[in-house]
Amino acid sequence: MKVQKFGGSSLADGKRIKKTLQIVLDEKTNHYVVLSAMKGITNLLVEASKNAEKGNSDYKLQLLDITKRHRSVIEELFPTEKRSSINEKINYLLDELKDILHGVELVQECSLRTKDLIMSFGERLNCSIVAEYFNSTGHPSQMIDAREIIITDDNYGSSNVFLQKSYKKIKERLENTGQIYIITGFISGSEKGITTTLGRNGSDYTAAIIGAAMESETVEIWTDVDGVLTADPRVVHNSFVIPYLSIEEAMELSYFGAEVIHPYTLMPTIEKNIPVIIKNTLNTKAKGTIISKNSVNRERAITGIASIDNVSFINVEGGGMLGIPGIASSIFSALADAEVNIIMITQASSEHSICIVCRTIEVEKAIYHLNKRLEYEIKTKKINRIDVKNDLEIIAVIGENMKGMTGISGKLFSSLGDSGINILAIAQGSSERNISFVIESSDKNTALNTIHKTFIG
Ligand code: ADP
Ligand code: ASP
Ligand code: MG
Repeated sequence: MKVQKFGGSSLADGKRIKKTLQIVLDEKTNHYVVLSAMKGITNLLVEASKNAEKGNSDYKLQLLDITKRHRSVIEELFPTEKRSSINEKINYLLDELKDILHGVELVQECSLRTKDLIMSFGERLNCSIVAEYFNSTGHPSQMIDAREIIITDDNYGSSNVFLQKSYKKIKERLENTGQIYIITGFISGSEKGITTTLGRNGSDYTAAIIGAAMESETVEIWTDVDGVLTADPRVVHNSFVIPYLSIEEAMELSYFGAEVIHPYTLMPTIEKNIPVIIKNTLNTKAKGTIISKNSVNRERAITGIASIDNVSFINVEGGGMLGIPGIASSIFSALADAEVNIIMITQASSEHSICIVCRTIEVEKAIYHLNKRLEYEIKTKKINRIDVKNDLEIIAVIGENMKGMTGISGKLFSSLGDSGINILAIAQGSSERNISFVIESSDKNTALNTIHKTFIG
């Protein structure tokens, strides 16, 4: 059996949903289909919740937009006489969403928990329509609300999945009945039954969890590009498909911003040795990218390049840090207290400064906790300053073949130097699979294109 996941880009309108049905039916195996919200709907839900929180009634415009988009898909998919039962279901969901948003407008407060609930409507609306459509074409289908089978903690916004508990629930719920299961991606439920989510782009992860639970042969991620490409195609126009990727390379690429797969996707599938295949709904003939444990023979040193936008750099500096054990530990504890995710760390051997890179939205709380935790060191001048620099970008150059190969960094940084790009910090893991560095955001396009041209062609 296979699990097939279709992203928002594959579900933009009625025509694409029809295409999805064709792809599902082309498979003769059992059907486990994970769906995201329709393209752009989760963003509209986020915008609506932000407006409602500000007490701004503009959220009604987003609600209207969401309603129109779903209504027009219903019109495309169902003849008039078959629309009433699906419209009833949709109206029920839309009324509930309207009430929740009105509640947020009244109290002018939207917690992460409420935001998760609001975002869940995208997947729930879409899966209701698609399951009904598949049924109407004579293919028995059942919508499964993943909040009942994917169990998480209550870390709203990006919850941690209790895998074993979830696997048990999934196996109990998804019996082998021959019908098509249409499973909501992205959304999950806490042990108390409260709606949670797996983080933006999380439907890929849902598919991997279902695949691991059901021990499927493969997990297919259907999207709008021919596979994992050597770089983000929106920035590097001559990027091309990487036919085979090792799990480690794929994880590094996704972690460093190749949004074609969610970074957690490969965790459940590695354990069960299930290959993940990226395919294009708009070009089904393309072979896609296969991500598996198999080693990959490739001539070039660099497999792909990825980048993370909107990061900041925190530099903790002071003469008193030299040779004193424990300062790094205090810095990392402070950031752990602040629940800040550190993306990159560098320390020069002079030990005079430690540089941490995190997302810009987390910088304020990071600084607050650093000042609190390092109060004594700051007072006694062991630490002279904590500086922040915003509007930065992390670029990661990834490839198994870099291991033990000499001259890569030299060539990399001279090509960037020749293009006039200033590097603010550099890190290389001991796996030698990844070289990451920080540049100004305004240099991103030039940097990605320069590296692609130099190493990938
Ligand atoms: P979906 O809606 O199917 O989940 P996403 O928008 O999440 O699709 O991911 C697909 C998009 O990821 C592509 O359209 C492409 O613009 C972007 N992308 C960024 N980096 C890469 C990469 N290295 N390879 C392929 N796509 C990439
Ligand atoms: N709909 C969710 C999002 O836009 C999840 C996903 O697309 O994977 O983030
Ligand atoms: Mg996605």
